[in-house]
Amino acid sequence: MIGYDHSQEPTIREILQTTVSDKNDLKTMAEIITRVEMESATNALDPALKPFPCFNNKSCTFQNRYKYANKIYNISKEFYPKTKTNSKAADKLKEKTRQEELNICKKSGNNAMYIHSVTSLIKKIILNKGYKFQVAKNIAKTFRDADEYYSKLLAHLPSSKSLQNYGFEIVTKAENDKVLKEIEEEELKNKVLDFVCARCDSKYKSDKYSEAGDCSYHASRPFYQFGLKKYPCCDKTADGFDNPEFCCQNKFHVYRQQEFKERNLISEYILEEELEDGEKNILALDCEMGYTTKGYEMIRLTIVDFVSEKPIFDKIIKPVGEVLDLNTRFSGVSEIPSGSLTFEEARKEYLNEKMINKNTIIVGHGLENDLQVMRITHSKIIDTCFIGYGKLGRRKPLKKMTAFFLNKFIQTGEHDSAEDAICALQIIKREYFNEFNFKINTEQLKWNDL
Ligand SMILES: [Zn+2]
Ligand SMILES: [Zn+2]
Repeated sequence: MIGYDHSQEPTIREILQTTVSDKNDLKTMAEIITRVEMESATNALDPALKPFPCFNNKSCTFQNRYKYANKIYNISKEFYPKTKTNSKAADKLKEKTRQEELNICKKSGNNAMYIHSVTSLIKKIILNKGYKFQVAKNIAKTFRDADEYYSKLLAHLPSSKSLQNYGFEIVTKAENDKVLKEIEEEELKNKVLDFVCARCDSKYKSDKYSEAGDCSYHASRPFYQFGLKKYPCCDKTADGFDNPEFCCQNKFHVYRQQEFKERNLISEYILEEELEDGEKNILALDCEMGYTTKGYEMIRLTIVDFVSEKPIFDKIIKPVGEVLDLNTRFSGVSEIPSGSLTFEEARKEYLNEKMINKNTIIVGHGLENDLQVMRITHSKIIDTCFIGYGKLGRRKPLKKMTAFFLNKFIQTGEHDSAEDAICALQIIKREYFNEFNFKINTEQLKWNDL
C-alpha cells in the first residue's frame, strides 16, 4: 500500500450523498455522523476494536481498518444505550463490530469496495437503529419490464441547461440552418483550412497534413504528482517545466474539430427534432473514433438494448475522410474492411423508429463525445457522469467507475465499445434501480492501480 493516494478516496459523507436519495434519511445520517465524530475526535483508538487479521488483505491498511472499526462502533453504540453503563454489553458490541469489519475486509477486492461497504454498513445501522437487518448473501436481480425502466429514467432526465454544462450540444433548427448557410456562403467545403495538430500543436494547412513533418507526441496526457509531471503512456517523469522525450511518432498531424460548425462541415447534423417519432426504447451506446484527413470521426458504433443488455447494432463505419490514424491502441479498431457501411448508410440503419428516435433515452459514459461524432443532438440522456462519486464534480474514467460500482476490471488493453456500453448501462442499472450482482474479483487490484 506504499504510495497509496488518499486524495482518490471518496469520504463516507460523499458516498452517502450520492447513494441516499431520501433527504430526511440523509439529514438523520449527517446529524448522527457529525455528532459522533465530534464526540470521539480526541479519543484514542480503542484497543478492544483492533481488527482481526485478514489473510491476503489488499483492500485497506491495518491502521485504516482500525480507524473504520472505531467509527462503526462509535455510531452503532448510539443505538445500544446499555453499552454506556454495562461493560459486558459494550464488549459484545465491539466483538460484533470486529466481525462485521472483518467480513467487509474479506469480501472487498479493493479499497474502493472496502469503503463502499463500510459506508453501506453505517447507513444500514443508522436506518435500522442498530443491527436489526438481514445481511443479504446474494442480491438477486429483480425483473423489470421495459416500461418501468423507461418511465423511471424519464423522470430523471436532466434539464437542457445542465446538459449544456456537461458539454452536450443543444442546437435549435434555426441555429443549425444559420450555420449551414454560412458554410455554403463561405464555400468552406472547397476551402483549405487552418488546422492545429491535436497531438503536437503544430500549425498546418488541411491539405498539407503529410508534408508538415513528423508528428511527435505522448499518447496520454500527463498527470501531476508531488510537483512532477508523469506520462502514463511511457512511464516517463519530468519536473514541472521540462518535457521528457516523446514516446510516439506518426507520419501525419491530426486535427480534432472543436466547434459545431466545423463538425457540421464534415457531415451534417441531424437534430433531435428532426428524428423520427418511434418506439419508447432505452439504448446504451458507445463509439470509437479515429483521425482522418477531415478530422476526428466515428469509426465504430455499438448500440446495446438496455433491458436485455444485448448489442443490437455493432459495426465498423467507413469515415468521410481518408484514414490517417485509427487510434488502435484505444479504439481497438485496426482496419476499416472494404464493404463497411459509410457514415450515411450506417445512419439509416440506426436512426429510425425502431432504433434511435425522438423518444429514445440514450445511456452511456461521456456521451457528449459520442453524439458529436455521430453528428446528432439529443436531450433524453442518462450519462454515468451524472452519478456523482469520488471528489465531487470530478469526472472519473469508465474503467474506475466500473471497478468502483461493479467490481469489474475492464480496458486492460484496447477498448471495446460493446463492453464499454454494457458496463455503462450496468452502472446506471445499479445506481437508478439498485440492480447488481456482486462478484468478488480475485485479482485484488488496488484502487490506485486502476
Ligand atoms: Zn509518453
Ligand atoms: Zn502533430
